Amino acid sequence: MYREISIGLGLAVALSLAVMGYDIIPYLFLAVAVSVVYYIVKSKGLINARSFEKAGNAVRKEVSFRDIGGQEAAIKELREALDFIKNHQSIKCLGIRPLKGILLTGPPGTGKTLMAKAAASYTDAAFVAASGSEFIEMYAGVGAQRVRRLFQTARESASRQNKSYALIFIDEIEILGGKRGKTTSHLEYDQTLNQLLVEMDGLGMDDRVRILVVAATNRPDMLDPALLRPGRFDRRVKVDLPDKEGRLEILKLHTGNKPLADDVKLEHIAKETFGFSGAHLESLANEAAILAMREGCMEINQHHFSESIDKVMMGARLDKRPSKAEMKRVAVHESGHALISEMIRPGSVSTLTITPRGDALGYTRQVPEDDAYLYTKDYLENQIAIMMAGAVAEETVLGNRSTGSAGDFEQAMRTAETILKSGMSELGVVCLETLPQDLKHRTMTGIVRKQEERVRGQMSEMKMILIKVTDVLLEREKISGEYFRKIISDAP
Ligand code: ATP
Repeated sequence: MYREISIGLGLAVALSLAVMGYDIIPYLFLAVAVSVVYYIVKSKGLINARSFEKAGNAVRKEVSFRDIGGQEAAIKELREALDFIKNHQSIKCLGIRPLKGILLTGPPGTGKTLMAKAAASYTDAAFVAASGSEFIEMYAGVGAQRVRRLFQTARESASRQNKSYALIFIDEIEILGGKRGKTTSHLEYDQTLNQLLVEMDGLGMDDRVRILVVAATNRPDMLDPALLRPGRFDRRVKVDLPDKEGRLEILKLHTGNKPLADDVKLEHIAKETFGFSGAHLESLANEAAILAMREGCMEINQHHFSESIDKVMMGARLDKRPSKAEMKRVAVHESGHALISEMIRPGSVSTLTITPRGDALGYTRQVPEDDAYLYTKDYLENQIAIMMAGAVAEETVLGNRSTGSAGDFEQAMRTAETILKSGMSELGVVCLETLPQDLKHRTMTGIVRKQEERVRGQMSEMKMILIKVTDVLLEREKISGEYFRKIISDAP
């Protein structure tokens, strides 16, 4: 309103001066130039405070901790911290310093944003949200001003809603809170981070609106140590990839609103999806439903889930059709992987296919063993054997190898490096930094070659079965683990 009155007054004065015979043209030019600069600055940096609030409202949509699966430990820790804020009176009596910041760390898609949303509902706080990238601008001082605005918006928003506390959620905090002096335009980055530190230091227990900052990052290693020191983000909650039970819980949450056929075994799907995040599992359930719809089914079947796991893991099916000879090579290669995998761990093959997906012309999916976080030497050597089996199968049936094995070799060498690093090679415990490169290379290739020889012997013994599996795979394009085992057991 003030703006409209000033514009009106300005125009009235200008008109009067013009009528009185003054030359107002230079002043008009000056006024236009000042307005242009004002609008550029405003649109570039001094973001309307409402955008943070709007983002907050969009993000907040009543999510509760019950909507988050497989994160019991993280939720418990976060809840404890939030209770700390809710019961601020008793905390004040005991003279405890208030908690100012909670940092949620973990891989992408594990539910950090969900946790912040749930935290806002749980504390019934006014909620404002921003992402680290919103604070980064070329113009010095703009980021710092946005940080000030963010805190101001949180206070205003809480007052307007008659709430005594506000929760500020900053996603991707590593962009705004990266180590100082590391970026090219470091002055701007440093000023922005400094402003955040100043704002956090200024938060107190006696403030009319008490503010808690919840930040999320996938890269805690990039954060400036000043942010992590006690008194700032002094609670770190790890939001990790879910384990098998967690995956089952998340699958239940995301299939709750979908019609599932009787053959769907969520336990089985949870077992097969080791390494999947909550976001992967949500996408998996969604893809399965889309597939069912495409096939005109009224219910989602197990095979829809199975196909979706492939899609989420490997990417969408490709239209490219390799030549017949290439298809045969891919079939031989995949059958080789599957046979050795099955020999090492019966029942381990889940699917093998020669349908191109993502970067792969075909692939063999193994049923993961129970979630494991430690591996023995035997296990790692067996994995190398399975990786080498594709190339060895090509050699056994077709007489030579192809470039299709390059990825397998890379993985095999990485696994050999893990054996070396963990002191399980013939060299015993080593210091990788001082170990001569050629000795390291020789030891790693030695590990891989030993498994290659082992597989070569086994593969030539199984050549007839290998050819049989290849033929069936070429004919069907995709075979399930059960059918694969049937071919093996029926073989003479
Ligand atoms: P990023 O680090 O990439 O920002 P994030 O950890 O913040 O990811 P979210 O945005 O919270 O992940 O999760 C994305 C989506 O994945 C959610 O909207 C939800 O559908 C699903 N999801 C992720 N984790 C869980 C979980 N633990 N329980 C239920 N759903 C989940």
